[in-house]
Amino acid sequence: MFRLDGKIALVTGGTRGIGRACSEALAAAGAHVVMAYRGNEDAAKDATAAIEAAGGKAEAVKLDVASADTVAETIKDITKRLGGLHILVNNAGIARDQLLMRVKQDEVDDTFSTNVAGTIWCCKAAIRPMMRAKEGRIINLSSVVGETGNPGQAVYSASKAAILGLTKTLAREYASRGVTVNAVAPGYIDTDMTSSLSDEIKEGIVSSTPLGRVGRPEEVAAAVLFLASEEAGYITGQVLRVNGGMYV
Ligand code: NAD
Repeated sequence: MFRLDGKIALVTGGTRGIGRACSEALAAAGAHVVMAYRGNEDAAKDATAAIEAAGGKAEAVKLDVASADTVAETIKDITKRLGGLHILVNNAGIARDQLLMRVKQDEVDDTFSTNVAGTIWCCKAAIRPMMRAKEGRIINLSSVVGETGNPGQAVYSASKAAILGLTKTLAREYASRGVTVNAVAPGYIDTDMTSSLSDEIKEGIVSSTPLGRVGRPEEVAAAVLFLASEEAGYITGQVLRVNGGMYV
């Protein structure tokens, strides 16, 4: 079940945290995984070596998803070189947490150009080869706070809510071309993004999570793998919540 042999997958921000877990899961299922990373060469080498050591196929490419032209060129190159692109996981994201009254313009610009525009550019560049192949799987990383809101995360939660609108629209636009588009909305997952939260905040999160713990990147990757699979072929425009019951 959930085999991806012969498929080409691109995971943005794919060498760290949830993205790395997605890269590993897709590669373990047989996909050739291209991990897009923004700048950390060591993390890129480490993630590639780990997948290869486990018997998978992976490579890392440097890519800032906020640059529309670079995204278009990179995805064109991947498609040409590897013979297609079947799976796109839009995982790259940043969080600049701030109460609304303190929010600065560059925080809004940076967050939206990575989380929202970056996802749009990757979808735009990937949709053509997917349409040509009459198959494709796009999985966009949203967040529980995109649905519930969260004090201190006005900008981030707005960007993650935007992902849901985008996902639903693309699902409708490309269903007839064999491309499914879904979102995964994690709750609080133990990664670099959440490591700076204070113990007090973490305890508050755990106590408001029915399963009584934070999540692991592998648990998000399992949902991504399912949505990328043949078996999820009748699912599109949906939000799969991986949040320990925090929002039901
Ligand atoms: P992380 O900070 O550990 O990793 C984010 C990755 O995105 C990094 O590899 C980073 O280099 C990459 N990235 C950032 N900006 C980029 C850009 N412009 N171009 C290319 N790559 C870029 O975060 P994570 O916790 O692994 O989060 C992954 C995704 O899951 C994000 O979209 C995040 O919003 C979402 N998410 C995380 C949580 C959580 O609790 N960790 C919860 C809900 C949603």
